[in-house]
Amino acid sequence: MADENFDYIVIGSGSAGGVVATRLTEDPQVSVLLLEAGPDDDDEMIKMPLGFSTLFKTKWDWNYETTPQKHLAGRRAYWPRMKALGGCSSMNAMIYIRGNHADYDEWRDVYGATGWGFDDVLPYFTKSEGNTRLADRFHGTDGPLNVEDRTYVHPLSAAFLESGVAAGLKRTDDFNGAEQEGIGAYQLTTKKGRRWSVADAFIRPALDRPNLTVRTEAFVTKILLDGNRATGVAYRRHGQSLVARAEAEVVLSGGAINSPQLLMLSGIGPGAHLRDMGIDVAVESSGVGQNLQDHPVSGIISHTKGTTDVAEMLGIGNLLRWRATGKGPLSSNVADTGAFFASRDDLPLPDIQLHVAPTGFVDNGMHEPVRRAQTTAVTLVNVQSKGHLKLRSADPTWAPEIEPGYFDDRADLEAMIAGFRRAYDILRTGPVAAYIDGPWIPATSDPTDDQIIEAIGAYGQTLYHPVATCAMGTVEGSVVDPELKVHGVEGLRVADASVMPRVPRGNTNAPTIMIGEKCADLIKESA
Ligand SMILES: Cc1cc2nc3c(=O)[nH]c(=O)nc-3n(C[C@H](O)[C@H](O)[C@H](O)COP(=O)(O)OP(=O)(O)OC[C@H]3O[C@@H](n4cnc5c(N)ncnc54)[C@H](O)[C@@H]3O)c2cc1C
Repeated sequence: MADENFDYIVIGSGSAGGVVATRLTEDPQVSVLLLEAGPDDDDEMIKMPLGFSTLFKTKWDWNYETTPQKHLAGRRAYWPRMKALGGCSSMNAMIYIRGNHADYDEWRDVYGATGWGFDDVLPYFTKSEGNTRLADRFHGTDGPLNVEDRTYVHPLSAAFLESGVAAGLKRTDDFNGAEQEGIGAYQLTTKKGRRWSVADAFIRPALDRPNLTVRTEAFVTKILLDGNRATGVAYRRHGQSLVARAEAEVVLSGGAINSPQLLMLSGIGPGAHLRDMGIDVAVESSGVGQNLQDHPVSGIISHTKGTTDVAEMLGIGNLLRWRATGKGPLSSNVADTGAFFASRDDLPLPDIQLHVAPTGFVDNGMHEPVRRAQTTAVTLVNVQSKGHLKLRSADPTWAPEIEPGYFDDRADLEAMIAGFRRAYDILRTGPVAAYIDGPWIPATSDPTDDQIIEAIGAYGQTLYHPVATCAMGTVEGSVVDPELKVHGVEGLRVADASVMPRVPRGNTNAPTIMIGEKCADLIKESA
């Protein structure tokens, strides 16, 4: 088959890639090929907010796992990643959070990501956003990404919110406005109670454009280079090996695991490691796969009384109700309520986020509910520990080695312990206390520091936010420049969560969509 030619090739249709491809094709003169390894996102469990964890370890999942983690009692952490149109925006828990304003100023000031301070990126957040309630300088109301208030909040989560206020947290109805700190119900990227992914918001509405070609089940195995210029990609589809050429640029949006993997497979990465893998070094780039950061989370899980568990609401009645109206418990993303606070009085910014769920969220939600429970998931959002990612083989079908280095920096454990203590204060105060019927994890309701550390070791997991493996900036070890161009390579940009130089204080979907928006503008400007 003859090679095909396009102006731009975008690898990966996820939170960033789907945005880049569709924004670029707003110009009818520009042709784009969007290649996605996974299939179409055509499953009701993708649409149903409560169903997100049923996608784990199925055909939808890249199904990664980390190396054994010293501070997780030697366990490997399971890392789900969506393999379908929309990428992880088709699998995630739909919480719409941007992080703290200071996160972006830090990208600019500490890492040299000029043009990525909060005032620079705010217009890109609001450009995407179609918020159905909030309309002020921090919010957009007419963007394609629907952001709405949840219609279902379980009584346990409502009670937790009141208890948080009673325990001294400020009530907020907007974590993405002037101030991040406080407690409230999360807004979601859903539309009338159904998931509203990047595939829904950006890709599907653009599918009839003649200048946009979207190919699913197209697994890119290599970025083709002519000297130090990216000229196209090699990919596999339905048993065929194919080549597509990019006249202008290739944009790599494979996510924080697959993007560094594909750069290395293409000869861009740390020279010694590539040579060890038998890969010819095209461009030495020591930072590829380095700097890996993720948000660790660990739950206080309590047995409950006098209430229900959302896991017992999966019957046919609620299914029919959700199908007909988008309402009821199946419209819940499990983590209905949340909070941001600083674990110590001397911290200027929040370092802990809570995800509060009216069920026992154990082992990524894959634990059979045996007894009614409530989870207060303590999440570290200002992470000091760093890890890395390496190839295990030059075969692109081999998963890379993922070493997140959870809690390697002792400060991370100290912050988690302080976060646990604050969460216990809330659970003992106000209306939620009446529902608590004793501890499950940790096994006592008044644990020592060592018992908290033990619980984190036994049950700690990812909050699914890996970033920074192709970090942007001008400091040593950065992989892309502030225009997202790969240092040392022409015609190649990376746009996805991997370019964040540091993980922001909050969930990473909205920040990644923002990166996609800004990337499209940077490309348009340079063209
Ligand atoms: C279970 C889960 C829950 C989450 N919950 C939330 C939440 O509630 N709120 C929030 O803000 N964030 C959440 N996140 C995180 C957020 O969704 C991600 O940070 C974000 O979607 C990452 O976007 P990305 O563009 O970097 O990568 P992705 O969205 O993963 O996109 C990468 C795409 O590239 C494709 N791809 C990879 N390699 C190749 C290849 N070689 N060839 C072709 N295609 C390829 C993949 O299949 C995928 O579609 C969650 C994530 C998960 C997994």
